[in-house]
Amino acid sequence: MDIQQIREDFPILQRKIRGKPIVYLDNAATSLKPKQVIDAEKYYYENVSANVHRGLHILSEEASREHERAHETVAKFVGAKKEETIFIRNATEGMNLVMYSLYNSNFFKKGDKILVTKMEHHANIVPWQFLERKIGVKLEFIGLNKDYTLDMKDFETKVKGAKIVSITGASNTVATLPNLREIEKIAHKEGALFCVDAAQLIPHHEVNFSAMNFDFMTFSGHKMLAPTGTGALIGKKKLLEQFEPFMFGGDMIHTVDWHSAKWNTLPNKFEAGTPNIAGSYGINAAVEYLKKIGMSNIARHEENLTKIALEEMEKINSINIFGPKDAKKQGGIVLFESTKLSAHELAMALSESENICIRSGMHCAEPLVSSLNKEGLARASFYLYNTEEEVKFFATKLKEILTTFG
Ligand code: PMP
Repeated sequence: MDIQQIREDFPILQRKIRGKPIVYLDNAATSLKPKQVIDAEKYYYENVSANVHRGLHILSEEASREHERAHETVAKFVGAKKEETIFIRNATEGMNLVMYSLYNSNFFKKGDKILVTKMEHHANIVPWQFLERKIGVKLEFIGLNKDYTLDMKDFETKVKGAKIVSITGASNTVATLPNLREIEKIAHKEGALFCVDAAQLIPHHEVNFSAMNFDFMTFSGHKMLAPTGTGALIGKKKLLEQFEPFMFGGDMIHTVDWHSAKWNTLPNKFEAGTPNIAGSYGINAAVEYLKKIGMSNIARHEENLTKIALEEMEKINSINIFGPKDAKKQGGIVLFESTKLSAHELAMALSESENICIRSGMHCAEPLVSSLNKEGLARASFYLYNTEEEVKFFATKLKEILTTFG
């Protein structure tokens, strides 16, 4: 992996603010975009700009072909079939799609158990809370061990009788990588559906949906080099055929009369309305870019950066880290606090002094993060274009700031 060459593809990494380069360590919020992705979107607007599935003219045909091709590229990338690959705006929409489709299909009844973990993003908590209010399902949370790994004993107890187990594939806060293989087997043995919030997993690791036997899996394009407003919900074909759609309107129908309609084939059944066509060009280019670098190379590189970050940050007295301390067990994120400055103060100081971008706050996982620090936590997160030098620079500056202000 030639990091310097990769960095040249990212226009923002060439940018200087106040004469200094940008050290972008906020990849768990969103990734930077390479020029290949930006050019693909631009190509669509400059050369095609037509709607899909609606016309027989040459531009519409081209747009439709590329939009379909993007589905194939994404499906292949995650080990799914094209008809199992529904394009959506983001992982949040994917979770809502799963929840609403099950709700619309009367899958749940009062008292049914929905099992998630204590390290979920709001996207995998709040939609299920809606069902608690609407039909009285019980939302339960699998606890974490002291080292922030998933408490498998607690899981094995709570999984009994669950209708669906819906868990993060990689935490965007404590960075834990749950053992999805083991969890899948146990969840299915108990007769539960198994859904994975892969927003923080797909950008960093190779995942094969079919081989892993997931029922649903969702992720956002913007965290994996693709444009904002792109993403996918992958669902097992037989389930997608069985369940009702979430949104209704154009493109998702086969035939319509005044009082009824027949649904289109998959994946269109779940893709109502004009899609993000430029985004399809973009996500296609993003996946091709990631494939060229190789997901195992990316994962290895991030593991190395995380190891360095953990080593360097543990040397700083006033820093506490929340998450597995073994880089192999976690997903390229360091979540931390300082006993001297708040997370927001740290983030501001790093940005103002050296253009170092990290995130601070609740990270859309408020129940967990506020239980660790009610003021919020700081988070540095890495991706393929980050260098060892950047990580060391970040740790050095962090130490300097804490020495000056402490
Ligand atoms: N789940 C996880 C684990 C995430 O990290 C995120 C994004 N922070 C989401 C879901 C939601 O992603 P989006 O905002 O793109 O819908």
